[in-house]
Amino acid sequence: MLFHEIDPEKFHNEYIPYTAEKNDMFIGCGKNEVLAAENEGMIVLPTVGEAVEAFGKDADGAGNGTAPKLSDFRYLFSIDERRFFALTDRETAAFGAYTWKSMRYLRITKPLSLSFAAAVGVQLHQWYQRTRFCGACGAGLVHADRERMMHCPVCGEMYYPTISPSVIVAVRSGEKILLTKYAPTHFPQSTHNAKATYALVAGYIEIGETPEQCVEREVMEEVGLRVKNITAWKNQPWPFSSTLLLGYFCDLDGPERITLQEEELSVAEWVERDQMPVRSADISLTSNMMEAFRKGEDPR
Ligand SMILES: [Zn+2]
Repeated sequence: MLFHEIDPEKFHNEYIPYTAEKNDMFIGCGKNEVLAAENEGMIVLPTVGEAVEAFGKDADGAGNGTAPKLSDFRYLFSIDERRFFALTDRETAAFGAYTWKSMRYLRITKPLSLSFAAAVGVQLHQWYQRTRFCGACGAGLVHADRERMMHCPVCGEMYYPTISPSVIVAVRSGEKILLTKYAPTHFPQSTHNAKATYALVAGYIEIGETPEQCVEREVMEEVGLRVKNITAWKNQPWPFSSTLLLGYFCDLDGPERITLQEEELSVAEWVERDQMPVRSADISLTSNMMEAFRKGEDPR
């Protein structure tokens, strides 16, 4: 089950400038955090109405804070009939039962549709936060009316939400797969244990190259190997890093001797299919690909 696979519910991100109503969902965003409560292990998000009431109170609850108007809430997307809004132009504080939860928390909580909504909401909110001034002329940007876009009233430059396409590559040699571990320096600020767990070769697609060319380049850069039979697998929007992950299986073309790129990786090794570590149920494409290989379900 990948993070975005919320069937039978459906994610709708077409932009419609709705005005919020009190029973719409509110995604309260901090810096890499989201406001949520928990009920019996399930994530609970506040409503717009709860946020209006809470922000209208001052610290002692007296009721003379500045409550946001419903029109201050920016429409983000819907899941089925549920609409999600954020306050993109003002600070959000924790209130009531809702506390700041980490992005890591969203990877392990249920239901998937709400944790996915929260993660994508934070992703969009961060884009709004970073897209306030024109990179061409420095003027303040304004929201477009009809699409999810910021534009410059002075020079006309337009800014759309940014995603970075990346590849994840499972390299096979017969019944073996190439597993890697990131170098500790690769995640200097990360609190999650990416450096301790196995991963696959991965990297960002560069300007001017196809995903397949990126597969060849990344494998050569990270482990010094040539590959062939590059075959597309699943793909995954990954809100935590604003990436679109494209999964590929491929086969080694040449000898198995690895030349490790040490700034990037601390470990790269060939592991037999029947010796592979079992990945617990996870929502990431890397885990999905490792499990597919372990179970012999990879494409040939
Ligand atoms: Zn400009």
